[in-house]
Amino acid sequence: MKVAFFSTKAYDRQFFNQANEKYQHELVYFEPRLDHTTASLAAGFPAVCLFVNDQADAKTLETLAANGTKLLALRCAGFNQVDLKSAARLGIKVMRVPAYSPYSVAEHAVGLILMLNRRLYRAYNRVRDDNFALDGLLGFDLHGCTVGIIGTGKIGMVFAEIMRGFGCQLLGYDAYPNKIFETLGAARYVELPELLENSDIISLHCPLLPETYHIINAETIAQMKPGVMLINTSRGQLVDTQAVIEGIKSGQIGYLGIDVYEQEDNLFFEDLSDTVIQDDTFQLLQSFPNVVITAHQAFFTRNALTSIAETTLTNISDFEQGRSSDNEVKYEEKVVSKTPA
Ligand code: NAD
Repeated sequence: MKVAFFSTKAYDRQFFNQANEKYQHELVYFEPRLDHTTASLAAGFPAVCLFVNDQADAKTLETLAANGTKLLALRCAGFNQVDLKSAARLGIKVMRVPAYSPYSVAEHAVGLILMLNRRLYRAYNRVRDDNFALDGLLGFDLHGCTVGIIGTGKIGMVFAEIMRGFGCQLLGYDAYPNKIFETLGAARYVELPELLENSDIISLHCPLLPETYHIINAETIAQMKPGVMLINTSRGQLVDTQAVIEGIKSGQIGYLGIDVYEQEDNLFFEDLSDTVIQDDTFQLLQSFPNVVITAHQAFFTRNALTSIAETTLTNISDFEQGRSSDNEVKYEEKVVSKTPA
């Protein structure tokens, strides 16, 4: 089947071309992001493949539908970039990759914790500068710390297991608790306020939904332990960035590690090193010594990319051959599933 890929980078081409040896779809790669101004590039393509920051709004979908597109194959888990209601109205099927490597994201979250705690970003630069002083690098043992995990699904569970390996106590909060979490030992489910009050480190692993939008806000930050470490590898809009900035300035938040950012679609995945960044909030965040930002790279392991390519191409084959699939995202009036990544 002819597939138009949007927002493609060299690594997308590499992993998809490799996986496609088995499927033999006709893959055409476009660099621009999909939106209503670029949608016409996909004229004559029955399938269009998107990533997290493409925009499949009503206007874009109308152009796609008018030009013969019948399938949106998302090469990610989240589908908050797609207007599902319009897709359903226009007869465009939406498929996604619900799971690839939960290890990729969980391990990156742990990487952020270690980096912040032991100030590895400063240590690395210092040693390169022949500055071997230790002042300002003081960390704390993770062993014995309490780690709060908001969202104990696939990624949250892998993260929980790793943190248990460090000897941490775990507090979980989830709208749909699972039975395995509390069998990890030193792990129990609590309500959100108890998690906020008692955690030394809080890591977000829940999806972006109307009820989780800004789950970290001025009020919830005020309930946290002073000096808490906050980690977000899930979705930028889970966090009210302004409230977090205030929290950092007051010392209530002692460390912030983020792989996602509320306004990331204007920044991430591009080399902007030669431009003047216009996002003052982002620049302010960057200026704090206790903040580490990575640009939505948590998923970026060869295992995850291999799995994403395999599942996306299988989805396209299933669609082509009329097979039903659990990876289809259906529009439901009530469930506004703004899941992520
Ligand atoms: P998952 O669906 O397996 O787990 C999500 C968990 O959140 C579930 O247990 C669910 O019950 C829980 N949840 C749902 N609503 C909740 C609420 N209101 N409050 C608390 N918990 C709630 O998803 P996953 O594969 O573990 O992914 C988790 C998130 O990680 C994704 O939603 C996505 O935002 C993010 N992600 C980020 C990257 C990245 O590269 N940074 C990559 C993949 C996924």
